[in-house]
Amino acid sequence: MKLKKHLGQHLLVAPGVLDRIAQLIDPREGEVLVEIGPGTGNLTKKVLAHPFKELHLLEIDQDMIRSLRESIKDPRVVIHEADAVSFDFCSLGENIKVFGNLPYNVASLIVEKTVFHHQCISQAIYMLQKEVAEKIQKGPSWLSAFVRTFYKVEYLMSIPSRFFYPKPKVQSGLIRLTRKEELPEIDLKDYKNFLTRLYSMRRKAIKHKLPEEVLLELSIDPMCRVESLDPEKLLLIYNIHQKVRGDKR
Ligand code: SAH
Repeated sequence: MKLKKHLGQHLLVAPGVLDRIAQLIDPREGEVLVEIGPGTGNLTKKVLAHPFKELHLLEIDQDMIRSLRESIKDPRVVIHEADAVSFDFCSLGENIKVFGNLPYNVASLIVEKTVFHHQCISQAIYMLQKEVAEKIQKGPSWLSAFVRTFYKVEYLMSIPSRFFYPKPKVQSGLIRLTRKEELPEIDLKDYKNFLTRLYSMRRKAIKHKLPEEVLLELSIDPMCRVESLDPEKLLLIYNIHQKVRGDKR
């Protein structure tokens, strides 16, 4: 099969690495799993050796779909010809575990999408471009803050490009998102807008981006930069900011 660069088709081909990732996904009896971009099913086949209830495969490419239908006959597997970016994850269950060697061109979008579906996604294990993976775990970026408001993020391992075919130009990293116990009930779109605004020109002092009364109420140094504030603090700021906005209406 001819691989399509525009769909980020770099297949993970090292059996040892695939086994390790399947172990880290740690499928359990009764679990509903979703794999994004299964491709030819290299990782899928390793996961099939574990117990679980259902595995939904989301793949956009018809050639890949055909190959999957031919090679995977497990009754627990459902193949969806679907774009993971617009797929309704919550239609599959209330406590799903998502994983995948993500197509790197849409990886950040898929991570963002995960947060928008955090009510039903309890865990996600994603392989992405190493720098992107590290930045989601540590920041500074609006997406990192957004993710870490709802999930604990662990960087699990780096995967050198030689383990892929065709070999990508970049190294890869595996991260695990585990949903937090206590989740804020906030409007996600509004919170995203708030964070992207704070992080635009992120080196500018915070006093240029937030009303003085918000900074005073939380005793925040008006000269500090957004990147010095952790996700918990940003959420606090968001809530106070909401209140101030509401009072003025
Ligand atoms: N998991 C496989 C393949 C990874 S390559 C492996 O590790 O070997 C990324 C896969 O994602 C490709 O099969 C590609 O066709 C698929 N893909 C690309 N964009 C997608 C999208 N928007 N939704 C679902 N799958 C997508």
